[in-house]
Amino acid sequence: MTETIAPVLGEATVEELRQAVRGELVTPADAAYAQAARIWNGMHDGRRPALIVRCAGAADVIAAVGFARSNDLAVAVRGGGHSIAGFSTCDDGIVIDLSTLRSVHVDPDRRRAYVGGGAVWADVDHETQASGMATTGGLVSTTGVAGFTLGGGIGWLMRKHGLACDNLLAATVVTADGRLMHASEGEHPELLWGLRGGGGNFGVVTQFALALHPVGPTVYAGPIFYAAEHDAKLLRLFRDWAANLPDEITALLNLTTAPPLPVIPEAWHGRKVAAFIAVSAGSADEAQQHVRPFRDAAEPVADLLGPMPYTAMQTLVDPLWEKGIHAYFKAANLARLDDELIERLCERHFSAPGPQCEIHVHQMGGAVASVPEDATAFPDRSMPFVLNAVTGWRDPNVTDEHVDWARTVVDAASSASTGRAYVNFLGDADAARPSYGADTYARLAALKAEYDPTNLFKLNQNIEPSR
Ligand SMILES: Cc1cc2nc3c(=O)[nH]c(=O)nc-3n(C[C@H](O)[C@H](O)[C@H](O)COP(=O)(O)OP(=O)(O)OC[C@H]3O[C@@H](n4cnc5c(N)ncnc54)[C@H](O)[C@@H]3O)c2cc1C
Repeated sequence: MTETIAPVLGEATVEELRQAVRGELVTPADAAYAQAARIWNGMHDGRRPALIVRCAGAADVIAAVGFARSNDLAVAVRGGGHSIAGFSTCDDGIVIDLSTLRSVHVDPDRRRAYVGGGAVWADVDHETQASGMATTGGLVSTTGVAGFTLGGGIGWLMRKHGLACDNLLAATVVTADGRLMHASEGEHPELLWGLRGGGGNFGVVTQFALALHPVGPTVYAGPIFYAAEHDAKLLRLFRDWAANLPDEITALLNLTTAPPLPVIPEAWHGRKVAAFIAVSAGSADEAQQHVRPFRDAAEPVADLLGPMPYTAMQTLVDPLWEKGIHAYFKAANLARLDDELIERLCERHFSAPGPQCEIHVHQMGGAVASVPEDATAFPDRSMPFVLNAVTGWRDPNVTDEHVDWARTVVDAASSASTGRAYVNFLGDADAARPSYGADTYARLAALKAEYDPTNLFKLNQNIEPSR
């Protein structure tokens, strides 16, 4: 079967856009289309956008936004392409693809990084570490800076240096009416407020200005793996230990399955394990003292916690989460990690349907909690823990089992949840209202009415413009 060019549009119309942009326009008639249409999550491989504009700069974004408006097209905005819910692709609409805008410019004196709207964390870490600095980025280095930062950004440096959105100092944005704007504390501060946690609702960010901090090149970091029979003991220890920790350390307890990596004894590959993972942005000696309770808690299967390059920590689990895997996340902010919940999480660990089903309990607090609730659109900073049920699989026939399992993990926490959830950890759309809570949602809706009154940017955890 021969593909027509962008079936929903005439050839002449598409040609108009091709002439208007400096970057590449990919249509279903192009050999590059099959690859260009795919995002990270293989669950969305069947989606068929009419057009993909690989933007070469802000002018292309302006042209694409104008074209989408004039032709009444659905708009998907793509940074790193890691949206779990599949927001960065669509059927029949236009993908505004920023993946060619990956430049990172570091100003070491002012401790700033100027980052292109399609950069991934590996790009940022590479450039910033050359000056001995870093900012809070993702646990997987192929994740995009854009979606991650705009939604909040939970990472290894957050308890010392804040969420990624707390480090967002300014942004260059193309709004729904095609204006190129600069948002900072001094210019359009309410827009900056919304970009710090409100996701891609307000426009297409072509450049981020991020605060940097001295980090590395070596940090005290890594996982300790234990047999899953210790799950409950480790979760209780983690809960009590996390409450009294300096902000330098950020940690996670992960109920998972031992991956087949050479650093883990072969006899353990494929067996259920608990992984305690910590990163210290401070002194190695102090960190070593602080993690001692975990070394004393149980016999480890493998102890890989120690000095390592920051960039090695940032890429440690990349090979397990490669593009094309099918994935689903579901999350809840926890008000507490009580014994009842611990028991349920342990049960869910054992009922997991596959080797890449992981129950993450993120330690929060520190610098995350010290930012006032209304200073950014990231809601709910007081929670001590964030629960994230993460699942990946390759056989499309087992999708339902995996999705159902992740949902049961989060359902198990309903009585211990604050009622809010971190939007970037949600594999389902339409979750914005409960996730943000009434006050933050109302403020976001008013901002949406100002910058995107027709809801052009609706493929996201969508904020409906207030009337
Ligand atoms: C393997 C993996 C690991 C992850 N680890 C973490 C983690 O450690 N911590 C964490 O907090 N989250 C994590 N996430 C979730 C991640 O933060 C979100 O999936 C985020 O949306 C990814 O950003 P992206 O730019 O790659 O996504 P994309 O799919 O490109 O974009 C997602 C959405 O963000 C918006 N967007 C993207 N680019 C722009 C732009 N330039 N301007 C305006 N809006 C834009 C759009 O609404 C878009 O639909 C992880 C996700 C995956 C798949």
